Amino acid sequence: MIDRRNFSKTFMATLGSVAISNPLFSKELLYDFKKSNPKKLGIALVGLGNYSKNQLAPALEKTEFCELKGIVTGTPSKAKTWQAKYNLSEKNIYNYENFDSIASNPDIDIVYIVLPNSMHKEYTIRAAKAGKHVICEKPMAMNSIEAEEMISEVAKAGKKLFIGYRLHYEPHNIEAMRIGQNQVFGKVKILNCSFGFRIGDPTQWRLKYSLAGGGALMDVGIYAIQAARYSTGEMPFAITAQEYKTDKVKFSEVDETIFWQMEFPSGAVASCITTYASYIERLYLSSERGFVDLSPAYSYGSIGGQVRRKPLDFTQVNQQQLHMDGISYSLQTGTKAKNIYGDEGLKDMNIIDAIYKAVATGEKVII
Ligand code: NDP
Repeated sequence: MIDRRNFSKTFMATLGSVAISNPLFSKELLYDFKKSNPKKLGIALVGLGNYSKNQLAPALEKTEFCELKGIVTGTPSKAKTWQAKYNLSEKNIYNYENFDSIASNPDIDIVYIVLPNSMHKEYTIRAAKAGKHVICEKPMAMNSIEAEEMISEVAKAGKKLFIGYRLHYEPHNIEAMRIGQNQVFGKVKILNCSFGFRIGDPTQWRLKYSLAGGGALMDVGIYAIQAARYSTGEMPFAITAQEYKTDKVKFSEVDETIFWQMEFPSGAVASCITTYASYIERLYLSSERGFVDLSPAYSYGSIGGQVRRKPLDFTQVNQQQLHMDGISYSLQTGTKAKNIYGDEGLKDMNIIDAIYKAVATGEKVII
């Protein structure tokens, strides 16, 4: 059983290449690292919406290995506000038209795509062609075909592609990975992973198929897919799925609620829900001799739960900070980051494609 006292030790071991607790880095490691890598990597955020404004930019004020150096926005008023607030150099402010000239800007090492889903592919490829590493938000793309193209183009450019999978740096989720993948309580048998919330504004891009590519499944169902995958360390081979719609006007273009089931090669079975109708947030991992139950499981700032009826209450971390620092550290040291590369995003897109196919056909889909 892991409690707060043992938190640092476990977290240090599980963070992998960034083998440090939160505060992330031991004084010694920070000192050594900064001596040999005095420059923080420069990040440019593309798309200054809610996630950039409320999570990523504040996290970039705390990061040790990277910093906010540039922005790409289609809204001139935001450019002004951000430039003043974050003391950004005029030459590091871009719009969607002149974005490609970022190629000649040595201040920017990583471009972080935080746009509506339909724009992920285009901006990821343009950033890589401009010679930058890319972090692309989830869902990686509109479908697996786009995801494959992104991986291939970024590789051709000799750059690295990461997905915004912040939970790989979150201690409760890391503990679920450890218990499941190492079969700490025996084989994983049953998973129950769900994420949903009640969506507001009916005019937002998340409800438009051309911009979102799908509804709740693309937006938050992907966390349940990830959770089942990182709790087992496996890829499912078979999917069944059912869709439910209570508001056919608001959800005329995208899914409101989907239930789906995934069968894994080891025999584990996952039952999952995603919805835009009401709040649900859970990772339940049941093994032969014990269980992990996280709820809330995927948001920022309040993750908790239990392991075999004992509380799991690791310190809350700034997931965005750890995610971007983990990536930057790996780029600067040439070490591997956590399992958050483009190929992981592609696996999730393959599953999403299969879920939509299972909904449309009513048949079991073999991946
Ligand atoms: P927002 O709608 O808040 O912001 C999107 C921004 O994209 C806009 O503010 C705008 O920025 C830019 N944009 C460019 N073209 C369009 C367009 N046609 N319609 C709307 N916006 C446009 O979205 P979020 O920040 O919530 O989400 C952005 C991405 O981040 C999504 O892929 C989402 O899935 C992901 N995300 C990930 C989270 C995580 O925890 N990992 C959490 C939240 C979101 P500008 O005015 O600067 O041009």
